[in-house]
Amino acid sequence: MKKEKIQPHCVVCLIPFKRTDQVHTDTFGTQIQHAKCFMFKPEFIKDTGTYEEVVNKYPNYKKSFIVSDNPVTDLSLVAAHKLRK
Ligand SMILES: [Zn+2]
Repeated sequence: MKKEKIQPHCVVCLIPFKRTDQVHTDTFGTQIQHAKCFMFKPEFIKDTGTYEEVVNKYPNYKKSFIVSDNPVTDLSLVAAHKLRK
C-alpha cells in the first residue's frame, strides 16, 4: 500500500507549514513545530531551520512530509488531528 504524504500542521497552532517557516525539531524525533510555537524546553530542541531545510535533512521526515507552497488542506486530516487532542 502506498504511504500517502501529508502536509503536516504545526501541532501547536495547527497551521500547515510553508517552505520558509522557521521551525524546530524536538529530540523525541517525532515532530516539527514552528520556532515561535515550540512548546518544550529549549534543551529539547534538536535542530532549527526552515521547514524545507529540516525535512530534506532527515530521511524520516522526507518520507512522509510534503514540501510545498500550496499546502494540502485536507479537512479530514484536520478533523482527525483535533480528535486526538
Ligand atoms: Zn505553529
